Amino acid sequence: MPLSLSAICTTCGTQYPPSSEPPHTCVICNDERQYVHPDGQSWTTLEGLRLERTYKNEILGEEDGLYSMTTRPSFAIGQTAYMAEKVSTLKFERLYNAFHRIVRDNASQSVQKSAERYIAALEGTLFDT
Ligand SMILES: [Zn+2]
Repeated sequence: MPLSLSAICTTCGTQYPPSSEPPHTCVICNDERQYVHPDGQSWTTLEGLRLERTYKNEILGEEDGLYSMTTRPSFAIGQTAYMAEKVSTLKFERLYNAFHRIVRDNASQSVQKSAERYIAALEGTLFDT
């Protein structure tokens, strides 16, 4: 693997931080709830997938303001990502099991704050690294 590329586990699809070498193991696949592929650990990179030209991302408009993105043919665990243009106001104020706690008031505000944190994490501005 060339210098400073981000390894992607071919079994689960998790991408790791840039490195000169891929990790020895995938922490996701080595979790007792997951599995390591019977042929063993293998890695690719986004650049490798692009050069391979096997996969395409299919983006569909599912409904007004909601889109899906699926890699075809299926890659890793074959997930589909859903993207909403906005989060609508909830019709209730309380959330149960929100990361193992209860949000007693202002559920919409908590969901909006969570969405903002998620977007910041995707943009790489949530954490100081
Ligand atoms: Zn993995």
